[in-house]
Order: sequence, then C-alpha cells, then structure tokens
Amino acid sequence: MSHPKTILITGASSGVGQATARLLAQQGHRVFGTSRHPSERGEASLMTMIALDVRSDESVAAGVSTVLEQAGQIDALINNAGYELAGALEEATLDEAKAQFETNFFGVIRMVNAVLPMMRQQRRGQIINISSLTGFVAIPFLGIYSASKFALEGYTEALRHEVKPLNIHVSLVEPGVLKTPMMNARQLAARRIREYEPWRQRALGALRELEENAPAAQSVANTVLQIVESKEPRLRYTVGRQAAVLSRLRRYLPETMLERGMRSNFRLDAKGAGRT
Ligand code: NAP
Repeated sequence: MSHPKTILITGASSGVGQATARLLAQQGHRVFGTSRHPSERGEASLMTMIALDVRSDESVAAGVSTVLEQAGQIDALINNAGYELAGALEEATLDEAKAQFETNFFGVIRMVNAVLPMMRQQRRGQIINISSLTGFVAIPFLGIYSASKFALEGYTEALRHEVKPLNIHVSLVEPGVLKTPMMNARQLAARRIREYEPWRQRALGALRELEENAPAAQSVANTVLQIVESKEPRLRYTVGRQAAVLSRLRRYLPETMLERGMRSNFRLDAKGAGRT
C-alpha cells in the first residue's frame, strides 16, 4: 500500500459504500463514512461514522468540518450516496425528479464544493464519483435516475480538466447492475399511468432478474481501492463484464443496433410482449 490516506465516503452504511469503506479501512486507510442516521447504521470499530445528508448545505458543511477537525486533511472524497427512482418518465412528478437530482447530482456538487478549498490549498487530492452504466446507457423506466448519472458524468469530466493543474485527480466508477440493498429500496414514482403498466412491469422485471444474478458490492470496492492507490488514475473505470461490454458497444456499435439490444433485454419489443 502507498502511505495511508484520510478518506471521506458518503453513503457508507450500506451496499457499495459500506463494502468500500470496510476494504479501505482494512487496508490501513483512515476512513470517515457518512450516513443520515449513523448511530443506527454505524460501524464504529473500523471507521468513523458521521452524520451527513448530501441534500443539505448545512449538514455537508458540518460533516466536512468534523472530518477536518479530527484528521486535519482529506486526501480522497468518494461520492457514493444515492438512490433509484423508478417508473415511466411521465409518471415521475417534477418534485420526485428534483429529489432524485438533489441526492444523486447536487449532493455530489455540495460535497465537492465543501472539500475543494482544502484540496486546492494543499495542492493535492482525489475525488471519485460513483456513477453507473446508466451514466452512459439510459435504462427505460429508470429514466430520471439515468439522467442524474448522465449529469454526473458530464460534471465529472469537466471537473477533472479544471482541477488537474492543482494536482487533484478526478475519476468515475461505472458499475453494471449489482446485488445490493438498493434494489429493495428502489422508489417507485407515485403516479401510475395505465398505458405504461405492462411495459414498466416487463422492464423492471427484467432488471430484477439481472440484479438477482448480479455481482456484490465488493467488486466496486476493489476498483475504488485500485483508484485510491493509483498515482495517475484514469477518468473512467467500468466494473464488471456487463458495464465493460456496454461501454464498448456504446462507442462502436451503430446506435440503432444498441437500441434494439436494449429493447430486447428490457422486454420492450414485440418478442417480449408475451413475457412478464
Ligand atoms: P444502497 O445499498 O441503497 O446504499 C445507499 C447509500 O446511500 C446508503 O448508505 C445511504 O445512507 C446513502 N444515502 C442515500 N441518500 C442519502 C442522502 N441524502 N445523504 C447521504 N447519504 C444518503 O445503494 P448501493 O447499491 O450501495 O448504491 C451506492 C451507489 O452505487 C449509488 O450512487 C448508486 O447509484 C451506485 N450504483 C449502484 C448500482 C446497483 O445496482 N446497486 C449499480 C451502479 C451504481 P443512509 O440511508 O444511511 O443515509
């Protein structure tokens, strides 16, 4: 291992964040993990859990100050907190869409803006944003979630250019479908429009099957460790075969073919009409 780093990771109470925080701590890094309810969901022996809600400016400022008071610096920020809003795009209210972006996108901006002044001053740092394959291929009936990850990808790409001269490295992690508690925490848009019902069920049913057989969060943790310990981290790291293959198809396959493949996989074509 390179020398131990002080690492702040959001959403460390579950799934990817928890597996990543554990692995980094086991490797000797000093890890601060966040949760909105750390006393209920904490894991104090390995890492320090702090209360932080990425939707709140005050909470983010207080959480980052706590880490700086205790550790004096933050070498790496890992933006992982997130959730999924499912349903047809027309079914999601504007408030639901805004709430999705408030956590998955603006939450990242809040965290980055809170740590950058210190990283600029120390002329060193690392920011790792947990995106998804939905950051480069949109999944039907996960449209707002996909949009939040597409936004994150654009933001991260530009941020990487801007802070590179300050010796701050920025990367994206793009996992495929995973088996984590997120699949049970998926929020369904409150409105239901009858015409979408069979298609929504097919697409979300296909997604559920992919999740049942998907890799666990550990695969992402291993990749994040590799990035944290890299001297020259790349912009993008896909995790798992599914994301790697889709990333290549996205670049090299004619769009119509990729679209056909997506419609078939999510049972939105005529052939899928008999299945549920
Ligand atoms: P998860 O098991 O549901 O964990 C989500 C974490 O986010 C929890 O620790 C939760 O903490 C935290 N969180 C949610 N809202 C928050 C808020 N407003 N402020 C602070 N923390 C908040 O989900 P996961 O599967 O590990 O997902 C983690 C990341 O991986 C997400 O960004 C997700 O988009 C991405 N990802 C997941 C998959 C997948 O298939 N699961 C695939 C690709 C990418 P508290 O509830 O304790 O606050």
